[in-house]
Formats: sequence, C-alpha cells, structure tokens
Amino acid sequence: MAVILFLNRKGCDIQAARRCVAYKKVNRGMIRADIHSGMSRYQPTLDWIDSQHDRMVGLVSRWAGMNTGSANVAGLEAFTADLVADFEPVGGDCGLVALAPCVSIDSGGVERQRALAPAVRITKRGDAGLRVFLGIHMDTVYGADHPFQSVKQIDANTLNGPGVADAKGGLAVMLVALEALERSGLADGLGWEVLVNTDEEIGSPGSLGLLQQCAKRNHVGLVFEPTHPDGTLVGARGGSGNYTAVIRGKPAHVGRDFGQGRSAIDAMAVMITALSSLNESVAGAVVNVGRVEGGGPLNVVPDLAICRFNVRAVDAAAQGAIEESVERVVDGVRQRDGVTVELHGGWTSPPKPMDGPTGVLFDHVAACGRDLGLSIRWEPTGGVCDGNKLAAAGLATVDSLGPRGGRIHSGDEYLLLDSLTERAKLSALLLMKLATGELAWRGE
Ligand SMILES: [Zn+2]
Repeated sequence: MAVILFLNRKGCDIQAARRCVAYKKVNRGMIRADIHSGMSRYQPTLDWIDSQHDRMVGLVSRWAGMNTGSANVAGLEAFTADLVADFEPVGGDCGLVALAPCVSIDSGGVERQRALAPAVRITKRGDAGLRVFLGIHMDTVYGADHPFQSVKQIDANTLNGPGVADAKGGLAVMLVALEALERSGLADGLGWEVLVNTDEEIGSPGSLGLLQQCAKRNHVGLVFEPTHPDGTLVGARGGSGNYTAVIRGKPAHVGRDFGQGRSAIDAMAVMITALSSLNESVAGAVVNVGRVEGGGPLNVVPDLAICRFNVRAVDAAAQGAIEESVERVVDGVRQRDGVTVELHGGWTSPPKPMDGPTGVLFDHVAACGRDLGLSIRWEPTGGVCDGNKLAAAGLATVDSLGPRGGRIHSGDEYLLLDSLTERAKLSALLLMKLATGELAWRGE
C-alpha cells in the first residue's frame, strides 16, 4: 500500500523528503510523497526542467520569429545556424544532411525539381543497446510572404505566432527533454539520434529516405508534433497521398476543325466525376480534387489539363482499395480516343495503426504521465505526419509528444506555455526510465 504524505511546499524539508521518499508536485504549494513510486532518482532532473520554463518560452519566441516556410531555403539555413548552437548542451555529433530535391509537376505538365534546405542530424551513443529516435520539423506552412510572421503573447499562458505549436514548441520540448536525460546521470545505456527536417509541411519528400534509415537504426521513435489542447495524444493516424494527373488531348480550331480536336478538359471532367464518386463507393477513404489547371483561348480545343488530388485512407485495407480504384479511373480515361494520362505521385504517408509495439510504447508514455499526475489518453486522427513514415518503416512511434496548442496552420495558431515544461518532463521521464530499464523495451 502506498503511503501518501501531503506536505506544504514552504513548510516541508524537501531535501529530507527527497532522501527518504520520492515525491512530486501535484499542484501549486503541495508536495505528494509516495514511498513506493521509486521516483526519487528522477526527481532532481524533473525539478531542473521546471526551472527551464522562461528559457523555453524565450527559445520558442525567438524561433517562431524566424521565418522557416518550407520553400524559404535561406530562412531555414539561418534558422539551422541558431538551432545547432541552441542544441549544443546535449552534446553528441551534429551535422547537416542534404535532402533530395522536391519534384513537382508545373502548370505546363513538366516535372520540376526544387532544392530543399538540409536537415540537422545529431547522434550520441550510437552503439548503445537501446537507441531512441527523436524527430521534429523546423519548417512551417507560412512562407516568407505570408502575413503571419510575428509572435505575441495573448495572455499569461498563451503565445500566438507562426509555428509556436507546430512545431517550434516541440523543438523546445525535445531539446530540454534530451538535456534533462544527459544531466540525469542515467543516460549511459541509451543512445539517441535526432533528426530535424525542413520539408515535413510539404510531405517530407526529401527527408523520407533519412526517416526510413532512422527507423531502421533505432528501436523507439519519439516525434514532437503538438498534442491536443487538452493533452490528448494522437494514436492511430490515417494515411495520405497526393497525385497529379497530366491529361493531354489534341488542339484544334473550334470554328474550323472542332471534330479534329480532343479536349483534355472534357477528359478531366470525366475523371473528376469518377474520382469524386469513390467517396461513396470506397469505405474508409476520401478523395479530394483540390486543384485543376488547363486550357487557354476559348476558340481552341484544350490539349492540356492538370488535375491534382489528395487521397486519404483510415487503414491499409482502405489504402489498397482506393489505390486500385484511382488506377481504374485513370485507365478508364486513357481509353478515350486521342487522350493520354500520366499519373504522378502516390502515398506520401501510409496509415499508422496502433499495432502491438506502438501500443506498448503508448502504455509506457501513459505510465510516465501517471507519475507526473497527467492523465494521458489518445485518439485517432485523419491527419498525417512523419510518424506515419517511421511506423511504415517498422519503428514503434509516438508522434504527438510536443506541447499543447491548437489552430495550427492558421494565423490563430497558439501554444499553451505551461505545457512546455509539462511535456518536456513527460519525455524526459520516458527517456530516463528507458535508460534505467525501469520501463523495459524488448523490441515488442
Ligand atoms: Zn507539424
């Protein structure tokens, strides 16, 4: 039976409490001491994290004030210089890793390559028996010309700014959690690898290969995307893919040779109708035609149309079904006389199920939450992140270990400041308990 002592923080002898029992703060002014929890070895480190609140707010404010839109290579490189310096306290080997260029189809139907800014990779104790991957992105959805560029504090606990939650707050949580592990004196048995990529908000086309390598080299994945405002983690994630169909027909003068033309726009209209109908016929899947281009002068039969669409699937079965259906729709349009269709793209993020090892990892996180007085729950989402790619490559991953916040991808994006230390303690405790073996990881 656990013996619970409630001590007034001012009145109690904290050192004595630390010597004889583990204790933790349950709310302002109160200390709960639990003789059986075994938290004493972690408590000094958790207390240190509490002392880092102002520093974390300062880091996030400075970082969010620097524009790191995914296409702003100069901005991302400037940010990287700051980031590398800010991560110095964790030690390890730090380097930049070039990303493969981003390939896209322009409005002329031609493939274009665009350079991406390099990612930051830091590794420490890579030969340890248990290795943890920690990742988050530095890029945001707000480009250099976006009106949302500055950070402002809305009230005592709320910061508004571009990327404060998604994901510069997560960067600060990851940094302080790792620093805490390194300061704890418990880190010897645990190796880690950090990857901060620059292209997550465009689907990580250039860092996919790096993420897959990281998944192979490590045993556990921690990703610091924001958690829900109430602290609920993201459990299972659906999958997502992006396609571009380039449809070519045959031009002709509308007045003189209309019958000789083959309209790419007519063919695209048939394709869109068929794609949209998949929303009714394929269970667990969504198709959204998000952008169309094509045509020119109104007296010319259009010979080029471009149709860009996003597909979603709740699980692998729905992914297979929707993939097959999209191919069938495209093949149907290819049967039209004088029309060709090139289909580019595919699944950028496969669905991320709550399978066995991932479930064990979530249970570990929840156990750490209980030690900290946090009730950790999770729920599924249709949104995707790099956690999908890591899971698809075989790494058990919890991917919403960042701070609490909301309205991400909008000018109202906010971060709840008290969650910075709260979530840093959660991840630090998980890391320390994995390092000491108190939480076992047998590669479930
Ligand atoms: Zn994000």
